[in-house]
Parts: sequence; C-alpha cells; structure tokens
Amino acid sequence: MRLRFPSHHQTMGERFDFYRQSDEDILGALTDLGSLQIDRLCHEARQLAATFEGLTPRGLAAREGWRIVEETVLIGDHTGAGIELMGECDFFPGRPAAIMINRTGIERVSRLALRSVGTFDDAWFHPPSLTDLTISHELYHLLNRAAGDRVSELAAHVFARAFTSSPFSPLLLHALLQQDRADRSRN
Ligand SMILES: [Zn+2]
Repeated sequence: MRLRFPSHHQTMGERFDFYRQSDEDILGALTDLGSLQIDRLCHEARQLAATFEGLTPRGLAAREGWRIVEETVLIGDHTGAGIELMGECDFFPGRPAAIMINRTGIERVSRLALRSVGTFDDAWFHPPSLTDLTISHELYHLLNRAAGDRVSELAAHVFARAFTSSPFSPLLLHALLQQDRADRSRN
C-alpha cells in the first residue's frame, strides 16, 4: 500500500481543510485501501479509544507504566529515508516500554501552524495539545504492540484523533513537520 501525500504546493489553508475531513475521507484520498477496509480500521481504532474515555494520554501511559522521554530531534528510519518523526515508541521485550517525543519538532510545528491556523481554535496547536496527540499515536502502537507497517500507522492516527477529540487528523502534523524541514533546508 502506498500513501499519496497531497502536493507540497498545497497552500496552508488547503492543507488544514484537507486534514479536517473525516478520517475515512482522508484515508480514501491518501491510500489505495478499499472503503470496507478503511471503515473497519477507523471503527476499531475509535472503539479502542472509547475504552479509555476519561483518561488523558499521559494518564494512560502512567497507568501502564510506560515512560515518556523528551528528545530534541527524532529521526526515524522506518522507510530507509530518515525522515523526522513527531514521536516514536520502544517496546523491546525485557525493558519497560517508552514513548519518545520530538520536543523541538513539536515546537517548530506549533509555530508554523499558529501562523496559519485559519478557523481552528489556536489551543489545538500549542505544544501541550500537539504533545498529547503525539503521545496518543504512540500509545496505539504500545497497546497493540504494532508499529512500522502502514496500516498500524494509519490506525494510530485515527486512534489519536478520537482519543484527544482533535478536530483534525494528526497526519497534518506529519505534513507540517516535513514542510518545516524543507523550508529550513532551503534557507
Ligand atoms: Zn506511528
């Protein structure tokens, strides 16, 4: 399965509009998954999120005994391309699981988003909210002991959106982080 990310020439307004659509519509546009598979993936991720209603992302991590570690930059190599990640998780057997958060990446995405936030409430783009979204995404991987393949990536985004009641898909943050890196490498 390939991901078809929208063009880098999209304006920020177009980008925000794209990622505020339903997860079903976003995944329909970005992937070649069939609509039944998308519906099932979204349903299961939201159902899992609903079982933790009333807990915060940090609260759920603490309850499970999972550490949260703040990094300065986080480069992932799942794709072999070495892209910057918002977060990552570690669940090797024999040591406590951990969630790594890209602190400086979150701050850069926050600054970029707040310049062009449009009709969204600013509060969604302050670092604490972005951190909650990122932690939630990684919680999905730890709960399912699955990361790295694209289906679990997409499900983790749906889970994070539902768990935090975010008005946009956290796939937006990934797009903004890569945009920020591209902008900085040009300057
Ligand atoms: Zn992930």
